[in-house]
Amino acid sequence: MSEPFTPTERTRVVREPQRGVYDRETLYRILDEGLVCHVGFCADGQPFVIPTLYARIGDAVYFHGSAASRMLRELDSGIPACVNVTLVDGLVLARSAFHHSMNYRSVVAFGTARKINDPDQKTEALRVISEHLIRGRWDEVRVPSEKELKATAVLEFTIEEASAKVRTGPPLDDEEDYALPVWAGVLPLTTTPGQPIPDSRLAEKTAVPAYIRHYRNGIK
Ligand SMILES: Cc1cc2nc3c(=O)[nH]c(=O)nc-3n(C[C@H](O)[C@H](O)[C@H](O)COP(=O)(O)OP(=O)(O)OC[C@H]3O[C@@H](n4cnc5c(N)ncnc54)[C@H](O)[C@@H]3O)c2cc1C
Repeated sequence: MSEPFTPTERTRVVREPQRGVYDRETLYRILDEGLVCHVGFCADGQPFVIPTLYARIGDAVYFHGSAASRMLRELDSGIPACVNVTLVDGLVLARSAFHHSMNYRSVVAFGTARKINDPDQKTEALRVISEHLIRGRWDEVRVPSEKELKATAVLEFTIEEASAKVRTGPPLDDEEDYALPVWAGVLPLTTTPGQPIPDSRLAEKTAVPAYIRHYRNGIK
C-alpha cells in the first residue's frame, strides 16, 4: 500500500469534502482509465488548458508531441502546471432541477514537467503512452526512427500534490420531492469501442488483432 497524498491548501476538496479522495491507489486507477488529460499552465500571464494524451508510471505522467509544441516548450521551462483527468460515469437525474448531478471520478494534480532527452528513456516513455492507449500495439508496429524521435518532444510531469473527487450513487432529493411522479435515478454512461474500421490500404489478409477485438482502456 503506497502513502496517500497529504491534502494541502491547494488540494483539499472544499465543496462536498466527503467526495475528496487522496489515496494513491484511487488516483492511479482514475489516471490509468482516462485517455485524455487537460494540462493547465500560464504563459506570459495567459492561462492555457490544452488536451493531450498521456500515461502514468508511479507519480510520473508522460506527455508527447511535436518538438515545436508551445505547451511542451513552456512546460519544459519548469513553470507550475496542473493536470486534470475526468471520467464521466453517469447522469444523476433528480426530481428537482436543482439536485441533478453527475457520477464522476476526477483527478487534479499539481507539479512540474521536464523534457526527457535520453533517446532510450524517450522511446520507453513513448512505449508507455502507446501501451496506455492500446495495450499490445507497440510490439506490432514499426518503432520510431531516429529522425522521428528527434521531431518528438516527450515530457515527464512529476505529481507533487494531487486529489481525486468521486461522486457515486443515486440522486439526493429534498424529502418533500420524493413523492413527485418524476422518474429519478442514474443513467450510466460508459466509453465503449465500436466495430474496427479497416483502413482502405490494409495489406491483404491482415487480420484484426485480439488486442483490438477485445479492446478495453484502463487495463494495466
Ligand atoms: C483528444 C486529444 C488528444 C491530443 N493529444 C495530443 C498529444 O498527445 N500530443 C500533442 O502534441 N497534441 C495532442 N493534442 C493536440 C493538442 O491539444 C494541441 O492542439 C497541440 O499540442 C498543438 O499545440 P500547439 O503548440 O500547436 O498549439 P498552441 O500554440 O498551444 O495553441 C495555440 C492555440 O490554438 C488553440 N488550440 C490548440 N490546441 C487546441 C485544441 N486541442 N482544441 C482547440 N483549440 C486548440 C488554442 O486557442 C491555443 O491557444 C490532442 C488533442 C486532443 C483533442
